[in-house]
Amino acid sequence: MANMIDPFGRHVTYLRVSVTDRCDFRCSYCMSEDMTFLPKKDLLSLEELDRLCSTFIRKGVKKLRLTGGEPLVRRDIMTLFRDLSRHLDTGDLEELTLTTNGSQLSRFADDLARYGVKRINVSLDTLDAEEFRKLTRRGDFNQVMAGLEAAKKAGLQIKINAVALRGINDYAIADMLRWCGNEGFGMTLIETMPMGEMDFHRGDQYLPLSEVRSRLEQEFTLNDIPLRTGGPARYVEVEETGQKLGFITPLTHNFCEGCNRVRITCTGTLYMCLGQDDAADLREPLRASEGDDLLENVIDEAIGRKPKGHDFIIDREHGGPAVMRHMSVTGG
Ligand code: SAM
Ligand code: SF4
Repeated sequence: MANMIDPFGRHVTYLRVSVTDRCDFRCSYCMSEDMTFLPKKDLLSLEELDRLCSTFIRKGVKKLRLTGGEPLVRRDIMTLFRDLSRHLDTGDLEELTLTTNGSQLSRFADDLARYGVKRINVSLDTLDAEEFRKLTRRGDFNQVMAGLEAAKKAGLQIKINAVALRGINDYAIADMLRWCGNEGFGMTLIETMPMGEMDFHRGDQYLPLSEVRSRLEQEFTLNDIPLRTGGPARYVEVEETGQKLGFITPLTHNFCEGCNRVRITCTGTLYMCLGQDDAADLREPLRASEGDDLLENVIDEAIGRKPKGHDFIIDREHGGPAVMRHMSVTGG
């Protein structure tokens, strides 16, 4: 079976799957307060998600990340992790992982470790419990801390992802970096991306990471290192803590030339680029036949038009979204 190579010669080896658009938080940069979620009947079943992921693994995907929405609020999600772990056992899949807000880790950390998950990304933008509550609109900071503790106990490696937000965490990032150093967590900073309509102007929260970096450099020595993990992050080593710090800068630095990934929504729509609207429906070919030939043809055709890159821009004139769907739909 043909591996997936796009028109620019990039091999697609990384699949991110949003298993639900629902979430127990409403982070202000990600969702609006009154989100309307998809009717459950539109979602792929766990069996369909397994079949879809397995097809991509046969077509060369080596790394699979489940995300959302909040992946751990999807009912019975552990059965999907359990079933997908068979591809780790055969060696066809090299990494099975997830991005989570951490709220359910106390319940699931042990199972995740049992099903072969080794490293997880936990999104956390502040260590201030009150600020956390405001930002997530309903999250419980202590629950997330307990979740992180459980994940550590289960032996999972943890990377904290924080979105840099002007007026919210700009002055707290240095403390978070120190805290991650003490806890043994990696850390990656992300620029806010213009996705989905918001109830405020994104330019107000947009904080370029170049600015964050200069500020951090007043306290820390940051040495650029050539580490590339196949993702969009550029890394530095923090001399004082010995840890790595990643910067994901879609706005100030375009990272598309090395893109190895595609994304699938919880309804089975394949997005070849996070920042473009072109997509392919995989649910119909998935449901149309029991064999996977039809599905594979649609995938090949879609990879054949993977775009060169995104066109994100946020400034005073461009506060609106570059794409109308929220991050929680495509899976961040
Ligand atoms: N609920 C899980 C979580 O928060 O980790 C997984 C899904 S969430 C959509 C994935 C990541 O996308 C999070 O790290 C979140 O901070 C990030 N994110 C959401 N909206 C974003 C935006 N507009 N710009 C940049 N990052 C965003
Ligand atoms: Fe939920 Fe994650 Fe979006 Fe926050 S960033 S609202 S936790 S999906």
